[in-house]
Amino acid sequence: MDRVRESAPQLASITPYDPKYIPADAFMSANENPHDVSEDIRHEIERAVRKVDLNRYPDPLANELRDMIAEANGLERDWVLVGNGGDELLFDTALAWGGPGRTFLNLPPTFSVYAANARLTNTAMVDVPRKGAPDFAIDEDAVLAAVSDPCNPVDFTIIASPNNPTGLRAPHDFMERLLAATDALVVADEAYFEFSRMTSRPLLEANRNLVLLRTFSKAFSLAGVRLGYIMAHPDVIKEYLKVRQPYSVDAVSQAIGCVVFENRAKFEPGIRAIIDERDRVMEGLKVIPGVRPFPSDSNWVLFQVEDAAHAWEYLYGKGILVRDFSDAPLLEGTLRVTIGTSEQNDAFLANLRDFCMRKRD
Ligand code: PMP
Repeated sequence: MDRVRESAPQLASITPYDPKYIPADAFMSANENPHDVSEDIRHEIERAVRKVDLNRYPDPLANELRDMIAEANGLERDWVLVGNGGDELLFDTALAWGGPGRTFLNLPPTFSVYAANARLTNTAMVDVPRKGAPDFAIDEDAVLAAVSDPCNPVDFTIIASPNNPTGLRAPHDFMERLLAATDALVVADEAYFEFSRMTSRPLLEANRNLVLLRTFSKAFSLAGVRLGYIMAHPDVIKEYLKVRQPYSVDAVSQAIGCVVFENRAKFEPGIRAIIDERDRVMEGLKVIPGVRPFPSDSNWVLFQVEDAAHAWEYLYGKGILVRDFSDAPLLEGTLRVTIGTSEQNDAFLANLRDFCMRKRD
């Protein structure tokens, strides 16, 4: 046949996710950890991976890792589910709580994958935009009104805390009020919570509608491995089990995850260093003329700069890749820089300063 039927109609409005990852000397665009896992952990990983039976299917539920995560959080195994990165679990959320006739409440600007998953699953979307700069605070009253609207019941919402790409965490008392106001599923996306030092974990037992989503990709330097997990009431986990791909977490990733999770305390100094560098970058940005950084609880800083698209190009010309949000709705004129090594942060600040000074000459 020289033709093919059209794909599902909801795909017409979808463009594949593009991380805009292009060659560079300094990758400061994807909110990764600038440091790879240490040599001693790498050796342990090598030993663990050598023992994996590659000819056998993995444990579908990654129970060894699941048990470690559960124990560390004072939970039973059935409160935890491991996935192929947080991304898979976000997709599973849309599959399990979304779909035709269902509604997702989104708080833009936020992680674009949430809205894409809603579109893919034919889930209706209600937007409650965040308030504007500098802190892009959640419009708490509007969110609470939206989840209480009897004419348009919300089935699930995702609150990124800290919020990517704007930077700040969600207030704890707001999470508490939201969870009490609705029986909609509330996913607290805590992919970056290690940099904010705040979690909704204390609210978990009292709220059957809460899901905590975490990842190994950021604080634990494992973006290349693809491991994330959720913690939620076992009744909620059971629904995720119905939609997930049975073998989504491969045996090698499981083995690596176990080693890294066992060694998680060793990542603490690295996390602290990123927080310190973030504060340094923030101060550096504040004194560059024409630059306005927004507060961050995470491992990046969003900032406004005059002529942002050219600033991006200038930095890229110097080998520094940052993320360009200058055309994104509600984020006009902004770039996002992920905290890198001290040297990378210095180079970023110096080159951005050069760009801004040239524009003034
Ligand atoms: N949530 C947020 C807010 C993110 O920024 C990301 C990564 N970009 C994820 C979830 C998913 O991370 P991963 O799939 O690497 O676990």
